[in-house]
Amino acid sequence: MTAILIINAISATISMAVAILAYHRRRMPGAMQFATLAVFEALWTVGYMKQLTAPTLEGKLFWNNVQFIGAVAVPMSFLKFSLKFTRQNLKAHSITWNLLRVMAVVILLVIWSDGWHGWFRISPRLQMIGGIQRLIFENGPAFNIFSTFAYLLVIAGSMHLLQNYLISPRVYRLQIATVLVGILIPWIAGVSAWLGLLKIGLHELTPVAFGVSNLVVAWSLFQYRIFDVVPVAHNLLVEYMPEGVLVLDRQGCLVDINLSAQSIFCLQVGQALGKPAAVLLPEIRQWMNVDDQPFETEICLDCTGSEKCYLTTLTPLLDSRHETTGWLVVMRDITSGKRTERQLRQMAITDPLTGLYNRRHFFNQMHLARQEYIESGRPYTVLLVDVDHFKTVNDTLGHQTGDLVLQMITERCRLCLRSVDVIARYGGEEFIILLPGTRAQQAEPIAERLRRQVADAPIPTHAGEANITISQGITSQEEGMPLTVDQMLERTDKALYLAKQCGRNCVRMWQGD
Ligand code: GH3
Ligand code: MG
Ligand code: MG
Repeated sequence: MTAILIINAISATISMAVAILAYHRRRMPGAMQFATLAVFEALWTVGYMKQLTAPTLEGKLFWNNVQFIGAVAVPMSFLKFSLKFTRQNLKAHSITWNLLRVMAVVILLVIWSDGWHGWFRISPRLQMIGGIQRLIFENGPAFNIFSTFAYLLVIAGSMHLLQNYLISPRVYRLQIATVLVGILIPWIAGVSAWLGLLKIGLHELTPVAFGVSNLVVAWSLFQYRIFDVVPVAHNLLVEYMPEGVLVLDRQGCLVDINLSAQSIFCLQVGQALGKPAAVLLPEIRQWMNVDDQPFETEICLDCTGSEKCYLTTLTPLLDSRHETTGWLVVMRDITSGKRTERQLRQMAITDPLTGLYNRRHFFNQMHLARQEYIESGRPYTVLLVDVDHFKTVNDTLGHQTGDLVLQMITERCRLCLRSVDVIARYGGEEFIILLPGTRAQQAEPIAERLRRQVADAPIPTHAGEANITISQGITSQEEGMPLTVDQMLERTDKALYLAKQCGRNCVRMWQGD
């Protein structure tokens, strides 16, 4: 009896010591869950010791119930530990967790109310075995339900660790294997006892086995620095760095992915590990073939609904014989830089007052239209618009209101144009419009519509209404030798001059020199 108690006391002490050790390293993945697991194991062991020393049947039954609080909590803690240790996101499994919690509570209620129904222990009694007064009972149906529940959780947790073992790089494997072996010791003992292989009651062996188990894990804690080594390969720095980091094995399958990379691809670590990286980055196979040198490229992804761009570097991981053992992908968010670049590019072609294109962009577009005419004979028309007597507007309403009027004119003109048409601010109160694919005959009614759109209704301003009219000159290229951009502009200018001469508020075609 004394020997059994001493062994169990050592076991409980080891479990508590390991719990404290793990608690001190609680920032490492799984350490907090491991501490919880060890505390419940200690509770199980202490419950067993108290049960063994209790003199009466009632006392033994009470402490046996306490023992089963540990027995129900341990498999739950183990499963949670195995998931946390392998960095699973438990929030994704919240429904399953709540279901398991409810099941655990129901099982505990059945155990603690066993005195009334006897579903858990059949005819519990005292019996002298080996000089010790022991609690003896046959397993009731609830006992078998509990055992199935407990072992299923342990199997699930173990399978998960095993699966992770198989897809992990070698550096992780030793730790996972040690944890697996350590954790499974009590359960192998328990199963053996349950199946009658060891001819000892289940609750005889398991509490002591916890001590051995925790010794193994505690040993690995120092030997392999289990909760420290995990972060060496997958350390917090990598985990929380703003760059997305992916580690691929030689075959290009994902063996590690940090938090940033998970959010870049909108997935969780469990969905990614073991999968070919090409599922996430289809072009990666081509990048890998680039001379075993680091390869850098820009990629844009859109899994969140807003496009983000990354400067992505793929670096081969070489061993001492310079053979590729894997790949490292680092993705740096360059979205804001790209956005600034885009904004600058946009600013370089935009007129700040009206938001229209500027002359530079317009000339580029004219060159393209001219090229199209040369290549395929596609006609185009240029329309030069000048606001009539705009000086008067400035003089009567003020320069600021004049600016506002220019903006309103812009809006009215935009309403009459297609999306393919290009309207730009040509100068102070002059606008220029390119109508691709449009002949002179088709352009005239468009210009007329523009004229009416501006002239038909006065433009309201806080300084008073402005009655605005515009004059327009039109030139088209639809046949003959291709004109240069300058020639086209010169002709349009002449046509505009004609419109002005004809009394303004009208449209004139270029009629020849
Ligand atoms: P018309 O073209 O009919 O011959 O008469 P106009 O009064 O429009 O002639 P002009 O080309 O001589 O004058 C253009 C005026 O437009 C002069 C200038 O003060 C004004 N202007 C040019 N750019 C701006 C601008 O950005 N804002 C404002 N408010 N006025 C401008
Ligand atoms: Mg002018
Ligand atoms: Mg004018």
